[in-house]
Amino acid sequence: MPPTRRRSAGLVALLAVLGLLGPSASAQASPVHSERLVLGRSVQGRPIVAWHRWHDGANRTLLVLGNVHGDEQAGLRVVRRLRRAPLPPAVDLWVIPSGNPDGTAADRRTNAHGVDLNRNFPRSWRRTGRGTTQWSGPVAASEPETRLLMRVVRRLQPRTTVVLHQPLSGVDAYRAKSLRLVRDLARESGLPVKVFDCRGGCHGTFTDWHNARTPGRAVTVELGATVPATQVRRVAGALLRVAAAD
Ligand SMILES: [Zn+2]
Repeated sequence: MPPTRRRSAGLVALLAVLGLLGPSASAQASPVHSERLVLGRSVQGRPIVAWHRWHDGANRTLLVLGNVHGDEQAGLRVVRRLRRAPLPPAVDLWVIPSGNPDGTAADRRTNAHGVDLNRNFPRSWRRTGRGTTQWSGPVAASEPETRLLMRVVRRLQPRTTVVLHQPLSGVDAYRAKSLRLVRDLARESGLPVKVFDCRGGCHGTFTDWHNARTPGRAVTVELGATVPATQVRRVAGALLRVAAAD
């Protein structure tokens, strides 16, 4: 590196320490770090991956899960966008493109054991739906993908977690831990606030387990059946803005 560039970088750092730069200049002085981690494996051995992006000092942990139902794949486009979108300095972003890579590869709701992962979490779990695409599994947390997501959430303790689904188009207020967060996400994303109660009460869902067992807030966001590119960008931007502000 030429000496003049080294000097100017040092000057920027000094000014930042002295508080003589505005917030945007300070943010530019801190690069976005990024790493890719393999968190574990699915039933069929596919990697379950996380992308982590953050600025130095970021303290608002946001976890975004692109899908848990393999036949709902618009969320994968939202998380792809999040991997390169401008990152607010406060947001410590964790993105798991898919919690169900076997189902995603087969374009199927369930995992490779035929279990609906979003009925398999150990919160109000019920034995239900065997032989259907909403089978809750033989016991609570029977599936490796379920246990992996539990481990990740326990370790990260995200302040905000968003799980993307399709096709009901709305931000879920059912058993919401923070209605303000739900309303903020709805306003910023352009999706309506709705109540998704699994037709008479949800059992064994990821968001219910997360909200009961950790201090953070988890919200289900349902995208529509078809999702235009403008909506992918808008939803990704909404997640980052709301996580930074709320
Ligand atoms: Zn779903």
